[in-house]
Amino acid sequence: MSAAYAPVLAQREKLAAHLIKQLGLRRMAASYCSTVQAAKAELLGLIPSPASVIRCGSESVGGLGLWDDIRALPGVTLLDPYAPGLTPGEGLEVRRQGLLADVQVCSANALTLDGRLVNLDGSSNRVAGMLFGPRKVLLLVGMNKVVADLEAAYARVRTIAAPANNIRLAGLGLKNPCIEDGRCHNCRSETKICNSWVVIEGSSVKDRIHVVLMGEDLGY
Ligand code: SF4
Repeated sequence: MSAAYAPVLAQREKLAAHLIKQLGLRRMAASYCSTVQAAKAELLGLIPSPASVIRCGSESVGGLGLWDDIRALPGVTLLDPYAPGLTPGEGLEVRRQGLLADVQVCSANALTLDGRLVNLDGSSNRVAGMLFGPRKVLLLVGMNKVVADLEAAYARVRTIAAPANNIRLAGLGLKNPCIEDGRCHNCRSETKICNSWVVIEGSSVKDRIHVVLMGEDLGY
């Protein structure tokens, strides 16, 4: 990280203290890590043993190589719908089993200044597990996903996260207009990956959701 970036990191650290308080008021736990290495250690340390862990589609988690680290934890079974060789039907079945996993690890698409988590999902197993099922939900969220309010969250997801995810997944045969021009057209495409908006206002089970905030940019 260049020296020119230092004020941004300092601002994010100060802002994180506010976000941790806001999430706490919504019965969610949170912690802040300024570096990638610290965030990885923090997240891995929150996974109990023994435990089953469901893998969700997340560039934030996958980009850090965390799935291999989680798979290597003693006593941990990683439920991996992306495992090589699985048929689409078998992958779907792993996702269904994942709704009863001990731990779900993923990210969020946006976090508002008052502590609301905003997500847009395609197959929707990720948001389903965030809401109910897994005993613990661990979210790795880069501070680049912090936005002022819900309106800004929707805008962020539609202008950045959703088109970028479409481009990432284009090789799977998606035929969505954002892949061509990088803009969301609020389409009705058969291969649309934007099917479920979920705003998490709070957790009925205190600290079931733990947000690990990460100072450096992570995911999109
Ligand atoms: S709604 Fe359609 S155009 Fe917009 S990001 Fe999703 S798939 Fe792309």
